[in-house]
Amino acid sequence: MKPENKDVVIAGGSISGLLCARELSQNNHNITILEEHDKIGVPEKCDGLISVNALSSLGVIPNKKTIQNKITGARFFSPSGKLIDIDSSNLDIIVLDRKEFDNELSEIAIRNGAQLMKSTSFVKTNHNNSEIIVHSSQNQFHCKYFVDAMGISSLMKKQKFGILQAAKYIIEADWFESNKVDLYFNQQLSPGFFTWVIPINENLAKVGIAGYGINSFNNLDYF
Ligand SMILES: Cc1cc2nc3c(=O)[nH]c(=O)nc-3n(C[C@H](O)[C@H](O)[C@H](O)COP(=O)(O)OP(=O)(O)OC[C@H]3O[C@@H](n4cnc5c(N)ncnc54)[C@H](O)[C@@H]3O)c2cc1C
Repeated sequence: MKPENKDVVIAGGSISGLLCARELSQNNHNITILEEHDKIGVPEKCDGLISVNALSSLGVIPNKKTIQNKITGARFFSPSGKLIDIDSSNLDIIVLDRKEFDNELSEIAIRNGAQLMKSTSFVKTNHNNSEIIVHSSQNQFHCKYFVDAMGISSLMKKQKFGILQAAKYIIEADWFESNKVDLYFNQQLSPGFFTWVIPINENLAKVGIAGYGINSFNNLDYF
């Protein structure tokens, strides 16, 4: 297959890659995004807790259908069970459906003219004079710039240690507050991080854990 000429090739079709594509394509650069999965936002790697301010600083106003919940506070549980309850109602914190959100970003990037290649894995780059040659599972690209937006998978290739292990589930329960995030600190279960409960509504919550050197799914089940 003949190599394609591009201004920029972006590897990774999640928030970083898609925002980068949105910015570059609206300035008429010829962009291709490579995403190894066949669907954007799947598997979902984020629980979507974010402030509206953080999003607007990136020029993003989330569509109503991507907002799952509004958060008004957080409860911090210490290992001894001590509780600190804080109010964050003035901070405009929301819970996003990351799958929907990423899909929305991809639609904007495509509308601006970016090409999105799903089921296409980045393999490697090499250089030929001033050009970068990007090898993917589908095709080769000759481009001026290459953007690595492959998130943690890229970091793990460079850095074997110091990476948090994480796991998450959606649970159905009635023991959390529907607009408060709970954070549990316990150095045995989640060394260096914590366990979180992010409510979606009165009955559903995203529960996750992260920590150094843990079996994250085992520890989350134990929690
Ligand atoms: C369990 C968990 C919960 C989290 N919850 C929150 C939260 O509530 N709030 C918050 O702000 N942050 C949260 N985060 C962090 C957030 O998910 C990341 O900061 C964010 O997703 C990083 O975005 P990214 O685009 O840089 O990378 P990623 O989202 O990791 O995306 C990388 C993309 O690159 C693709 N890719 C990887 N390798 C290749 C390849 N070889 N070829 C092509 N494509 C490739 C992947 O499929 C993926 O689409 C959470 C993280 C985890 C693990």
